Formats: sequence, structure tokens, C-alpha cells
Amino acid sequence: MNSRNKNHGKKVMLLLTIFIATLSTISTPALAGEVAPHWRYGGAENPTQWGSLSKDFALCESGRDQSPINIKNTVESTPSKISFDYKASPLVVINNGHTIQVNYAEGSTVTIDGEKYALIQFHFHTPSEHEINDKAAAMELHLVHRNETGKLAVVGVMLTKGKANPLIEEVWKNIPATGKTNTVSNITINAVKLLPISKAYYSYAGSLTTPPCSEGVKWNVFVEPMTISEEQIEAFEKLYQVDARPIQPINGRSVQLHR
Ligand SMILES: [Zn+2]
Repeated sequence: MNSRNKNHGKKVMLLLTIFIATLSTISTPALAGEVAPHWRYGGAENPTQWGSLSKDFALCESGRDQSPINIKNTVESTPSKISFDYKASPLVVINNGHTIQVNYAEGSTVTIDGEKYALIQFHFHTPSEHEINDKAAAMELHLVHRNETGKLAVVGVMLTKGKANPLIEEVWKNIPATGKTNTVSNITINAVKLLPISKAYYSYAGSLTTPPCSEGVKWNVFVEPMTISEEQIEAFEKLYQVDARPIQPINGRSVQLHR
């Protein structure tokens, strides 16, 4: 081997070392607080692949009661029996790498069909995850509740383009960097300002719309949308251009309409 070949060999080794170093950087979780395995809305870890990313995510592929769905062919059911007892909460905004989430203080509840659930957090999707009669909205808000036995009830609110929402403005103004939490001690919010006047809603049995796609989630989507301004939609889309799981098969489930 002459010196030129030796040098070449050294260069190859150096490049290999850099390549391996880069690979290990990529495979390390990019965000503090994000738990492996990764899942995303695009690229190789897009929603059609979630079920194969981890054994823990198997239901994303094999589940029969998955969310979101296209809400149509609904069945008229018992009158609306949903009532909210939301209290003010200090503003805590989390930018978790998948969405913007607001954690809620203890003591706020929703009662659905006589069953009480505590509000834990709310977060946003763009475009909407659910469709109503084949139509998606610009965004969708999910208010996540849990009862004493651990059962989840999510209240979905479609957000259509229109007047700005003042509470959402307050949230957007306080979004931290990816992976970070912003506890804003001098601002309190009340999620009641995110609810439409009409309490008519659709209900069905579904799942989490993100991995692990756990089932047994009681879904309640308001018929009446709330509005969000074009500027507010654009501000969110700058951070998360798309964070909505595609529509899942209905598999014979009934969707009830409570007026
Ligand atoms: Zn959601």
C-alpha cells in the first residue's frame, strides 16, 4: 500500500466514523421528554405505520374501534345529557412535539349520562381529525377527561375559520420551544370559553387518535363548531403543519346524535 492509498484509507475511516456518529445522533430521541419509539404524522413513521413501530402500538393497526371517524348516518338518541362544571386554571402550555397541549388544574368536571369525568388537558389538531358528513374543519380541539376508574371521555370541538378565539390567543402567546412546558403563573384560563352554546353532540365508542391508540374512549363531538381566526390557524400551522390521524373504519359502530 503506498502513502496515497494509506491516506485514502484514513479518509474512508474518518468518513465512516462521522457517518456512525451521525447515525447514533439521529437514533437518540431528538426531544427531551419525548418517549421512544417515535411516531409522526409524516415520513417513515406516518400513521399507516404506527402499528408496526412498537408492540405497544399494535392496536393502531389491529383495533376495530379506532378514532377518528367520519361522523355520518347518525342515529337520534336520548336528549343531550352533557353538563360542564369547568373552573379557572393556571395556564400551563406544553409543546410536546406532536401538538400544543394545555394541562388543566384539578377540580373541573364534565358529566355525561350521569357519569362524572375530570378535565385533565386539552390540545389541538390541524386539520380536524373527525369529519362530519364527509367534511373536515380547519382544526379540532380535544378536551380530555378521565373518571375514577381510568375511563377516558374526550369532548371534540370543530374549529372553523371565523372570529378569533380569545382563549386560544392567550395559549398561542405562551407556546414554549419544542419539548418544553411553560407555566404562566399570572394568567388563569377557563376552558368553558372553548365550548359552543348548543350542547347537541354526537357520541360513539372510539380510541386515542395517537399511539398507543388505546380503545374504550368515550367520544363526544359537538355539532356546533367554534371559530378560530385565519391568523390563529396559520400561527399553529407554522409549528404543526399537519397533526391529524386519517379517518378510521367505522366497523359497524353506531354514532348517536343527542340534541
Ligand atoms: Zn387529540
